[in-house]
Amino acid sequence: MKALVIGGGIGGLAAALSLHQAGIEVTVFEAVREIGALGVGINLQPNAVRELTELGLGDELALTGIPTSALAYYNRHGQRIWMEPRGREAGYRWPQYSIHRGELLMILARAVRERTGDASIRCGHQLASFEQDAQGVTAHFVDRRSGAQLESARGDILIGADGIHSAVRAQLYPDEGDPRFCGQMMWRAAVESTPYLDGLTQAISGHRDQKFLVYPMSAKSRERGRSLINWIAELTVSGPTSRADWNRQVSKEVFAGAFAKWRFPWLDVPGLIDATDSVFEFPKVDRDPVRQWSFGRVTLIGDAAHAMLPIGSQAGSQAVVDSRYLTRALLAEPTHEQALRRYEAERLPAMNEITLRIRGLGQEIVMEMAEERAPDGFERIEDVIPHEEMARLSAEFKLAAGLERDYVNSRKSLI
Ligand SMILES: Cc1cc2nc3c(=O)[nH]c(=O)nc-3n(C[C@H](O)[C@H](O)[C@H](O)COP(=O)(O)OP(=O)(O)OC[C@H]3O[C@@H](n4cnc5c(N)ncnc54)[C@H](O)[C@@H]3O)c2cc1C
Repeated sequence: MKALVIGGGIGGLAAALSLHQAGIEVTVFEAVREIGALGVGINLQPNAVRELTELGLGDELALTGIPTSALAYYNRHGQRIWMEPRGREAGYRWPQYSIHRGELLMILARAVRERTGDASIRCGHQLASFEQDAQGVTAHFVDRRSGAQLESARGDILIGADGIHSAVRAQLYPDEGDPRFCGQMMWRAAVESTPYLDGLTQAISGHRDQKFLVYPMSAKSRERGRSLINWIAELTVSGPTSRADWNRQVSKEVFAGAFAKWRFPWLDVPGLIDATDSVFEFPKVDRDPVRQWSFGRVTLIGDAAHAMLPIGSQAGSQAVVDSRYLTRALLAEPTHEQALRRYEAERLPAMNEITLRIRGLGQEIVMEMAEERAPDGFERIEDVIPHEEMARLSAEFKLAAGLERDYVNSRKSLI
């Protein structure tokens, strides 16, 4: 069997490793000229770390990322609303890692090249269109810069792992248009600083209209007693927004003033913003769930299948898990079409549900409740939101995301 993977992001490269592990020949076609260490921070949940460990990448992740110890929500005065242990601290057999997306991408790309040869990642190949027939699928490419047509490729199946602006999805859903803007702009950055809290915690402060998220993400920085902190400032903005582009750099003046007074005993937000050089702007966008990802020999994974708002740290992890379910289905089913349908049946309902749950803020709804019920702060959070209610929201989110601890720890390996 020969698989064509469109997109060399987290999902596409994880799919390449997974298919190769299963003995399936695979080529990745990536639009950019070179896979670069782009992005800032991303989180890998224990369900995805389990899969990457079973793909032989556990040691490299441990040397690179931060094993997240806790997730904590605060109000805009810096008072703690909720804190829960994460990863190993929460009893998972695998850690949660906060990691630089670029470093993660390099780990994946290196492993793909080592295991399957340099020619298995074809950079500079932007998918223009595809067509399928009874014997296979043909993909047509252009050079993104020059627009020149490149040689087409033929395979048994085609996997659209080409992200939120997926060309594969656009051909399957020609009327869909741009991603849906949810009203908030994000400004994302990374800066080395002194550690806050225990040096391993993901902390989110504020509420829907104004939020500041931080987490440390570099093992090397930590070894030196420092923290490479990923931060995201968010504000509700009015009016139309530009196309979602992960690499758009902007001036801090656009948003920094709104956070000028956010000096908490445990974190100096304006100080962190001041110390940062480059800030990237990205509108908070997702896509409406669709009812079908698999069309004959063609399917979608990751953001191409289920672009969700960046709440609850799910996108990267779910892309990895998709690739594993897809591989399992290809090993188990007698025809390619049946395998792709099975993968869809196993993943689509849960991913659509989590996409919508995240639109409703997921577990972060507790920050909204605290702001509505106690805008000036509180003496005791128990007087504002009962502990049981927050524990229930946390458990419900984990169940929906496939992250329930005992399930992750005890289910059989997918491959
Ligand atoms: C440059 C970049 C920076 C990012 N930074 C962050 C970040 O800091 N934090 C975070 O949480 N998430 C970030 N993301 C998004 C995050 O990687 C995804 O939400 C998640 O990991 C799901 O991965 P994915 O593989 O589905 O999509 P992505 O990781 O977005 O990968 C999609 C890949 O497909 C390629 N592609 C697109 N169109 C075509 C085409 N027509 N033909 C061939 N290839 C194509 C893209 O160049 C990209 O490499 C970033 C994505 C990108 C592309």
